[in-house]
Amino acid sequence: MKKILTGIKPSGVIHLGNYLGMIKEVIEFQGKYEIFLMIADLHAQTVPYSPKELRKLTLDIAKSLVALGVDPKKTVLFKQSDVPAHLYLYWILGCLVSEGDLRRMHEYKEQKEKHKENVGAGILMYPVLMAADILIYNADLVPVGKDQEQHLELTRELVRKFNNKFGKLFKIPQVYIPSETSKIMSLTNPLKKMSKSEPEGCLEIFENEKRIKEKILKAVTDSEAVVKYDPEKKPGISNLMTIYKYLTKKSYHEIEEEFKNKGYYEFKLAVYKAFMNFFKEKRERKKRLSDSYIQKLLILGAKKANKVANENLEKILKATGLR
Ligand code: AMP
Repeated sequence: MKKILTGIKPSGVIHLGNYLGMIKEVIEFQGKYEIFLMIADLHAQTVPYSPKELRKLTLDIAKSLVALGVDPKKTVLFKQSDVPAHLYLYWILGCLVSEGDLRRMHEYKEQKEKHKENVGAGILMYPVLMAADILIYNADLVPVGKDQEQHLELTRELVRKFNNKFGKLFKIPQVYIPSETSKIMSLTNPLKKMSKSEPEGCLEIFENEKRIKEKILKAVTDSEAVVKYDPEKKPGISNLMTIYKYLTKKSYHEIEEEFKNKGYYEFKLAVYKAFMNFFKEKRERKKRLSDSYIQKLLILGAKKANKVANENLEKILKATGLR
């Protein structure tokens, strides 16, 4: 069976962008691929964080993933830091990557701007660890949101470099980006992606209903009062339409017809209702999952992930002269 690797940072709680950009694809691929889904706790250390919060968020994200439909019988769900082989390969790839290539990454430039003096070298090296995450499983496919496209290109470049130098050990992984929902925008600034680092613009799937309603009703739109899909001129409304389209399975045309001669308030209210309707069962399921059950799943996941990763690591150590 072909393999998938993907992950999510426990630097905040799961939001709609995560679900539409990556999680729903993973769920769709279950049973068709061998899936490794990691809670990327090492990646979460690249920005300022508190150890207590990191522990709490790691468990919360794992619980949310299971509630959303990640099936532990079909998907290896694990904590990145539980599989040390990732870090071994990270070092080896770090010695191959060019510093200039890392400095060109959009995500690095953005994070550096945001965190200024607090920025550590981890942010620069982040894409190398991501390449190691993927290659330690020799993954065939990596489902991610559009923000990760450039990092995946770097991974593919690193495979070429590694294979040229040490022999053809790695496959070139394919990136899988969903066509319409690969970049869900912030509700407070529709020109920026929805991101855990900005909770106000972020539709958190499991937060309380009142806040969800408030956030959707306050979403930044425009003054035209026409529900029409036009991402260039109407990015706010178009973003809400993309969300509504996925949640209700209606087409853009049907949505435009539905809200013809109606105001934005009515449209936003419909988006809120569609959101609650779509996630109702999943939100209830999360409440029923216990911490101890999730902890056990993560231990089991780590065992399975370590087995595959360590087998590959042995080959890598031999090829690179360390064994
Ligand atoms: P992160 O929250 O950065 O750990 O991202 C976890 C996954 O969600 C990655 O595959 C991202 O590409 C995806 N993702 C994050 N934010 C968005 C967004 N606003 N729209 C679509 N996908 C996203």
